[in-house]
Amino acid sequence: MPGKDGTGPQGTGPQTGRGGGQSGRGQGLGPGGECLCPACGATASHSPGTPCSQIKCPKCGSLMIRK
Ligand SMILES: [Zn+2]
Repeated sequence: MPGKDGTGPQGTGPQTGRGGGQSGRGQGLGPGGECLCPACGATASHSPGTPCSQIKCPKCGSLMIRK
């Protein structure tokens, strides 16, 4: 690179992307909500603090996932 005065424009753009919304919340974990059975598609409500992965589908008995 010509000139080593350190004033080159390389890599000195305005902050690219990463604007907002990065509040560190990986997933939208709302209070309560519903779980979804990946096997049969049934849904079931669950209590806050109880992951869907610990709830069995009321229809087929498969472990549910967060909807
Ligand atoms: Zn099911």
